[in-house]
Amino acid sequence: MLGLESEKVVGHHVETILTVGSRIFYQTHLFPLLRMHGHAEEIFIMLRAADGHDEAALLNAVRRQEGEDWLTYCILIRVRERRKFEEALLRAKKEAEAARETLDAHRKELELANAQLEEQALELELSQHQLNEHATELEVLNQVLQERSAELETQRTIAQDANQAKSAFLAAMSHELRTPLNAIGGYVQLIELGIHGAVTPAQAEALARIARSQRHLLRLINEVLNLAKIEAGTVNYEVRPIVLREIVNSVFPMIEPQVHERGLTSEIDVSPELVALADRDKTEQVLLNLLSNAVKFTNAGGCIRIVSGSTSGPPRQVWLQVEDTGVGIRPDKLAQVFDPFVQVDVRADRRAEGTGLGLAISRDLALGMKGQLSVESVLGQGSEFRLTLPAA
Ligand code: ADP
Repeated sequence: MLGLESEKVVGHHVETILTVGSRIFYQTHLFPLLRMHGHAEEIFIMLRAADGHDEAALLNAVRRQEGEDWLTYCILIRVRERRKFEEALLRAKKEAEAARETLDAHRKELELANAQLEEQALELELSQHQLNEHATELEVLNQVLQERSAELETQRTIAQDANQAKSAFLAAMSHELRTPLNAIGGYVQLIELGIHGAVTPAQAEALARIARSQRHLLRLINEVLNLAKIEAGTVNYEVRPIVLREIVNSVFPMIEPQVHERGLTSEIDVSPELVALADRDKTEQVLLNLLSNAVKFTNAGGCIRIVSGSTSGPPRQVWLQVEDTGVGIRPDKLAQVFDPFVQVDVRADRRAEGTGLGLAISRDLALGMKGQLSVESVLGQGSEFRLTLPAA
């Protein structure tokens, strides 16, 4: 069992095969026990093997007297198995401890996470609170906005009514003004014709001036009346398919004499295929206005062109464009030319030729036909006015 030669054991003291610890135990506990009781059972004891390793054993012993001598009989059993279990138990205990430590660590982590979560919950509650506050503010704002928009709506109705009243007033006034103006024109003509006696050259010149002013005033009034009617929405549009080329053919002859008179050349490049959905008379009116402006604002030697085109859309559109090589319009004034009574950089003698209403009326008419009137111009080089209309 211990790998010892028998001569090293037989005849020697029992302590020879014990470890140091077991020797002390033997002397202090085991031997006194045997002497007192005469026997001992299942005492755990460590033995020293030949190679120096410790061997655990269980000891059963009996002490009895034989003749003169007291003899102790021992039986030693290896407890390697038991040790194995003990070690396993120890290992298990250690593992359990480690597991507990891991558990503790996990618990700590959980506690930390929990604390963070609580903090976040608090923050969330705070944001929720702020959101609620914002929502309330928004609601208030919304109410204010609604009130404002209601106010605006009322004001818009008032403005609309006022605008209509203005247009109605203008229409009535223009009508009232035209009658006496026509009378002035008529009487001037009668005097010019010498019905009331001979007219001196000086008188004739004065009469011509009166007649020019009368015509200008009449045109102004007619155009004001036109604009007033359009703005009051009392103009009816007879929309039907119209061939752009035909419009040009009927309008251009009206302006042709002035083109020649002013020493201008002209060019027409309008496709006969293009058909617009528009009011014929109104389209002619717009074109005539664009052409007379082109003639008015182009100096001798210049050129006036009428061109056309179409867009594939949607919506499909066709356009007529009047181009000139005239004085052009300053970029900062470009948008204003469509405003009523706007005349850009016009010399005093030219001012008498226009009213500043032509383009305002033309744009309103274009819009009334679901079209547009736009302009591009380079100062000193010329202008392009484009009337775009829905295609038929
Ligand atoms: P009017 O011709 O009676 O003055 P319009 O409304 O037709 O009034 O035109 C407004 C202004 O736009 C004109 O006075 C002129 O300054 C400018 N304008 C219009 N057409 C042209 C053009 N073809 N070339 C340069 N300026 C133009």
